[in-house]
Amino acid sequence: MKIFISCDIEGISGVVTSGAHTSSDGMDYERARSLMTGEANAAIEGAFNAGATEVVVNDSHGPMTNLLIEKLNPAATLITGSPKPLSMMQGIGEDCAAAIFVGYHARMGAPGVLSHTISGARVANVWVNDIIVGETGINAALAGYFGVPVVLVCGDDIVSREAKELLPHVRTAAVKTAITRQSALCLPPERAQALIRQETEQALASLDSARPWLPGSPVTFKIEFKDSGLAENAARMPYSKLVDAKTVAFSADNYLTAFQGLQAMIALAC
Ligand SMILES: [Zn+2]
Repeated sequence: MKIFISCDIEGISGVVTSGAHTSSDGMDYERARSLMTGEANAAIEGAFNAGATEVVVNDSHGPMTNLLIEKLNPAATLITGSPKPLSMMQGIGEDCAAAIFVGYHARMGAPGVLSHTISGARVANVWVNDIIVGETGINAALAGYFGVPVVLVCGDDIVSREAKELLPHVRTAAVKTAITRQSALCLPPERAQALIRQETEQALASLDSARPWLPGSPVTFKIEFKDSGLAENAARMPYSKLVDAKTVAFSADNYLTAFQGLQAMIALAC
Protein backbone atom coordinates (compact mmCIF):
# COMPACT_ATOMS: atom_id res chain seq x y z
CA MET A 1 0.00 0.00 0.00
CA LYS A 2 1.68 3.18 -1.28
CA ILE A 3 0.61 6.45 0.35
CA PHE A 4 1.19 9.90 -1.12
CA ILE A 5 1.51 12.95 1.16
CA SER A 6 1.43 16.55 -0.13
CA CYS A 7 2.80 18.93 2.51
CA ASP A 8 2.23 22.70 2.50
CA ILE A 9 3.23 25.12 5.29
CA GLU A 10 0.36 27.61 5.87
CA GLY A 11 -1.82 25.01 7.60
CA ILE A 12 0.82 23.82 10.07
CA SER A 13 0.00 24.49 13.74
CA GLY A 14 1.93 27.56 14.96
CA VAL A 15 2.28 29.01 11.45
CA VAL A 16 0.19 32.19 11.15
CA THR A 17 2.34 35.01 9.77
CA SER A 18 2.91 35.70 6.08
CA GLY A 19 6.61 36.19 5.40
CA ALA A 20 8.03 35.64 8.89
CA HIS A 21 6.84 32.02 8.85
CA THR A 22 6.42 31.29 5.14
CA SER A 23 9.38 32.86 3.28
CA SER A 24 12.90 31.47 3.33
CA ASP A 25 14.19 34.86 4.56
CA GLY A 26 11.50 35.11 7.26
CA MET A 27 12.53 35.59 10.88
CA ASP A 28 10.70 32.46 12.08
CA TYR A 29 10.98 30.39 8.89
CA GLU A 30 13.45 27.88 10.37
CA ARG A 31 10.96 27.15 13.15
CA ALA A 32 8.08 26.88 10.69
CA ARG A 33 9.88 24.37 8.46
CA SER A 34 10.82 22.31 11.52
CA LEU A 35 7.15 22.24 12.62
CA MET A 36 6.19 21.32 9.03
CA THR A 37 8.64 18.42 9.08
CA GLY A 38 7.17 17.30 12.43
CA GLU A 39 3.61 17.18 11.03
CA ALA A 40 4.80 15.37 7.89
CA ASN A 41 6.51 12.80 10.12
CA ALA A 42 3.28 12.32 12.11
CA ALA A 43 1.38 11.44 8.92
CA ILE A 44 4.22 9.16 7.77
CA GLU A 45 4.19 7.31 11.09
CA GLY A 46 0.41 6.98 11.03
CA ALA A 47 0.54 5.61 7.49
CA PHE A 48 3.09 2.93 8.38
CA ASN A 49 1.12 2.07 11.55
CA ALA A 50 -1.92 1.53 9.29
CA GLY A 51 -0.07 -0.88 6.99
CA ALA A 52 1.57 1.32 4.36
CA THR A 53 4.50 -0.32 2.61
CA GLU A 54 5.71 2.88 0.92
CA VAL A 55 5.21 6.57 1.71
CA VAL A 56 6.30 9.39 -0.58
CA VAL A 57 6.14 12.99 0.64
CA ASN A 58 6.01 15.92 -1.79
CA ASP A 59 7.20 19.32 -0.52
CA SER A 60 4.43 21.63 -1.75
CA HIS A 61 5.19 25.15 -0.52
CA GLY A 62 6.83 28.02 -2.42
CA PRO A 63 10.19 26.84 -3.80
CA MET A 64 9.28 23.38 -2.44
CA THR A 65 12.55 22.98 -0.52
CA ASN A 66 11.17 23.44 3.00
CA LEU A 67 11.04 19.97 4.56
CA LEU A 68 14.20 19.03 6.47
CA ILE A 69 15.28 15.76 4.87
CA GLU A 70 17.77 15.10 7.67
CA LYS A 71 14.86 15.06 10.14
CA LEU A 72 12.39 13.15 7.96
CA ASN A 73 11.30 9.66 8.99
CA PRO A 74 13.83 7.50 7.08
CA ALA A 75 11.13 5.00 6.11
CA ALA A 76 9.65 7.60 3.70
CA THR A 77 11.05 9.25 0.58
CA LEU A 78 10.94 12.98 -0.25
CA ILE A 79 10.25 14.87 -3.46
CA THR A 80 11.86 18.29 -3.09
CA GLY A 81 12.47 21.28 -5.38
CA SER A 82 10.64 23.00 -8.22
CA PRO A 83 9.34 23.34 -10.86
CA LYS A 84 7.56 19.99 -11.04
CA PRO A 85 5.03 19.01 -13.74
CA LEU A 86 2.36 18.12 -11.16
CA SER A 87 3.42 20.85 -8.70
CA MET A 88 1.93 20.13 -5.25
CA MET A 89 0.89 16.66 -6.47
CA GLN A 90 4.17 15.45 -7.94
CA GLY A 91 4.48 11.78 -7.06
CA ILE A 92 0.76 10.94 -7.30
CA GLY A 93 -0.04 8.08 -9.66
CA GLU A 94 -2.26 5.07 -10.20
CA ASP A 95 0.01 3.03 -7.92
CA CYS A 96 -1.02 5.11 -4.86
CA ALA A 97 -3.78 3.77 -2.60
CA ALA A 98 -4.56 7.12 -0.95
CA ALA A 99 -3.47 10.75 -0.74
CA ILE A 100 -3.08 12.84 2.43
CA PHE A 101 -2.77 16.63 2.59
CA VAL A 102 -0.76 18.09 5.50
CA GLY A 103 -0.40 21.82 6.29
CA TYR A 104 -3.16 22.81 3.85
CA HIS A 105 -4.98 26.17 3.98
CA ALA A 106 -8.37 27.52 2.91
CA ARG A 107 -9.06 29.04 -0.50
CA MET A 108 -8.63 32.76 -1.18
CA GLY A 109 -11.57 34.70 0.22
CA ALA A 110 -12.38 32.19 2.97
CA PRO A 111 -11.63 33.34 6.54
CA GLY A 112 -8.87 30.76 7.11
CA VAL A 113 -5.29 31.27 8.28
CA LEU A 114 -3.15 32.54 5.36
CA SER A 115 -5.94 31.66 2.92
CA HIS A 116 -5.01 31.84 -0.77
CA THR A 117 -5.33 29.87 -3.99
CA ILE A 118 -1.96 29.04 -5.62
CA SER A 119 -0.86 32.70 -5.80
CA GLY A 120 -1.96 35.09 -3.06
CA ALA A 121 -0.74 38.05 -5.12
CA ARG A 122 -2.52 37.16 -8.37
CA VAL A 123 -5.56 34.92 -7.91
CA ALA A 124 -8.93 35.97 -6.41
CA ASN A 125 -11.02 32.87 -7.20
CA VAL A 126 -10.82 29.59 -9.10
CA TRP A 127 -13.76 27.50 -10.32
CA VAL A 128 -13.65 24.07 -11.90
CA ASN A 129 -16.86 23.35 -13.83
CA ASP A 130 -18.44 26.23 -11.85
CA ILE A 131 -17.51 24.72 -8.46
CA ILE A 132 -15.43 27.16 -6.42
CA VAL A 133 -12.23 25.44 -5.33
CA GLY A 134 -9.06 26.08 -3.37
CA GLU A 135 -5.87 24.06 -3.48
CA THR A 136 -7.63 21.21 -1.64
CA GLY A 137 -10.16 20.79 -4.47
CA ILE A 138 -7.71 21.44 -7.31
CA ASN A 139 -5.29 18.83 -5.97
CA ALA A 140 -7.96 16.33 -4.86
CA ALA A 141 -9.26 16.30 -8.43
CA LEU A 142 -5.76 15.59 -9.76
CA ALA A 143 -5.58 12.63 -7.36
CA GLY A 144 -9.03 11.65 -8.68
CA TYR A 145 -7.71 11.75 -12.26
CA PHE A 146 -5.34 8.95 -11.22
CA GLY A 147 -8.16 7.13 -9.38
CA VAL A 148 -6.78 8.01 -5.94
CA PRO A 149 -8.98 9.27 -3.06
CA VAL A 150 -7.87 11.98 -0.63
CA VAL A 151 -8.55 10.46 2.79
CA LEU A 152 -7.25 13.13 5.19
CA VAL A 153 -6.79 16.91 5.10
CA CYS A 154 -4.80 18.57 7.92
CA GLY A 155 -4.85 22.33 8.54
CA ASP A 156 -7.10 24.85 10.28
CA ASP A 157 -10.84 24.53 10.96
CA ILE A 158 -11.72 26.50 7.81
CA VAL A 159 -9.85 24.25 5.35
CA SER A 160 -11.30 21.26 7.22
CA ARG A 161 -14.81 22.54 6.46
CA GLU A 162 -13.84 23.29 2.84
CA ALA A 163 -12.55 19.73 2.42
CA LYS A 164 -15.67 18.14 3.92
CA GLU A 165 -17.99 20.18 1.68
CA LEU A 166 -16.24 18.78 -1.40
CA LEU A 167 -15.23 15.29 -0.24
CA PRO A 168 -17.97 13.83 1.99
CA HIS A 169 -15.89 10.83 3.11
CA VAL A 170 -12.76 12.78 4.02
CA ARG A 171 -11.33 12.90 7.54
CA THR A 172 -9.79 16.09 8.82
CA ALA A 173 -7.26 17.03 11.48
CA ALA A 174 -7.88 20.63 12.58
CA VAL A 175 -4.58 21.50 14.27
CA LYS A 176 -5.57 25.15 14.71
CA THR A 177 -8.70 27.31 14.81
CA ALA A 178 -8.58 30.51 12.78
CA ILE A 179 -9.18 33.78 14.64
CA THR A 180 -8.18 36.09 11.77
CA ARG A 181 -6.23 35.52 8.55
CA GLN A 182 -2.98 35.86 10.54
CA SER A 183 -3.92 34.55 14.00
CA ALA A 184 -5.18 31.25 15.36
CA LEU A 185 -5.74 29.13 18.44
CA CYS A 186 -3.05 26.46 17.95
CA LEU A 187 -2.37 22.99 19.30
CA PRO A 188 1.23 22.63 20.53
CA PRO A 189 3.30 20.40 18.20
CA GLU A 190 3.06 17.30 20.38
CA ARG A 191 -0.76 17.36 20.32
CA ALA A 192 -1.03 18.46 16.68
CA GLN A 193 1.21 15.58 15.66
CA ALA A 194 -0.65 13.04 17.82
CA LEU A 195 -3.93 14.15 16.19
CA ILE A 196 -2.47 13.79 12.68
CA ARG A 197 -1.05 10.35 13.52
CA GLN A 198 -4.42 9.13 14.88
CA GLU A 199 -6.43 10.59 12.00
CA THR A 200 -4.05 9.06 9.43
CA GLU A 201 -4.52 5.64 11.04
CA GLN A 202 -8.33 6.07 11.10
CA ALA A 203 -8.46 7.39 7.53
CA LEU A 204 -6.49 4.46 6.15
CA ALA A 205 -8.46 1.95 8.25
CA SER A 206 -11.62 3.19 6.51
CA LEU A 207 -10.05 3.46 3.05
CA ASP A 208 -12.82 1.25 1.59
CA SER A 209 -15.38 4.02 2.09
CA ALA A 210 -13.22 6.71 0.43
CA ARG A 211 -14.02 7.79 -3.14
CA PRO A 212 -11.83 9.62 -5.67
CA TRP A 213 -13.26 13.02 -6.68
CA LEU A 214 -13.06 13.98 -10.36
CA PRO A 215 -15.06 16.74 -12.09
CA GLY A 216 -16.74 15.57 -15.32
CA SER A 217 -15.20 16.12 -18.76
CA PRO A 218 -14.84 18.46 -20.54
CA VAL A 219 -13.15 20.29 -17.68
CA THR A 220 -13.29 24.09 -17.55
CA PHE A 221 -11.14 26.14 -15.20
CA LYS A 222 -12.19 29.73 -14.66
CA ILE A 223 -9.73 32.04 -12.88
CA GLU A 224 -10.71 35.43 -11.54
CA PHE A 225 -7.51 37.45 -11.17
CA LYS A 226 -7.01 40.35 -8.79
CA ASP A 227 -6.90 42.91 -11.61
CA SER A 228 -7.54 43.13 -15.35
CA GLY A 229 -3.84 43.38 -16.29
CA LEU A 230 -3.13 39.99 -14.73
CA ALA A 231 -6.07 38.49 -16.63
CA GLU A 232 -4.88 40.01 -19.93
CA ASN A 233 -1.46 38.42 -19.44
CA ALA A 234 -2.99 35.04 -18.52
CA ALA A 235 -5.18 35.17 -21.64
CA ARG A 236 -2.03 34.87 -23.80
CA MET A 237 -2.46 31.16 -23.07
CA PRO A 238 -3.51 29.42 -26.32
CA TYR A 239 -7.19 28.30 -26.35
CA SER A 240 -8.02 30.41 -23.27
CA LYS A 241 -10.61 33.18 -23.38
CA LEU A 242 -11.43 36.29 -21.38
CA VAL A 243 -14.84 35.86 -19.75
CA ASP A 244 -14.82 39.37 -18.30
CA ALA A 245 -12.14 41.98 -17.53
CA LYS A 246 -10.58 39.96 -14.71
CA THR A 247 -11.64 36.39 -15.53
CA VAL A 248 -10.06 33.87 -17.92
CA ALA A 249 -11.43 30.43 -18.82
CA PHE A 250 -9.66 27.39 -20.23
CA SER A 251 -11.28 24.08 -21.18
CA ALA A 252 -9.76 20.68 -21.91
CA ASP A 253 -11.13 17.22 -22.50
CA ASN A 254 -9.39 15.79 -19.43
CA TYR A 255 -8.52 17.05 -15.96
CA LEU A 256 -4.73 16.69 -16.29
CA THR A 257 -4.60 18.97 -19.35
CA ALA A 258 -6.96 21.46 -17.69
CA PHE A 259 -4.73 21.45 -14.58
CA GLN A 260 -1.65 22.12 -16.72
CA GLY A 261 -3.55 25.01 -18.35
CA LEU A 262 -4.43 26.43 -14.93
CA GLN A 263 -0.78 26.34 -13.83
CA ALA A 264 0.40 27.93 -17.09
CA MET A 265 -2.17 30.76 -16.96
CA ILE A 266 -1.22 31.67 -13.38
CA ALA A 267 2.47 31.64 -14.37
CA LEU A 268 1.70 33.93 -17.35
CA ALA A 269 -0.21 36.42 -15.18
CA CYS A 270 2.25 39.00 -13.94
ZN1 LIG B 1 2.08 27.19 0.74
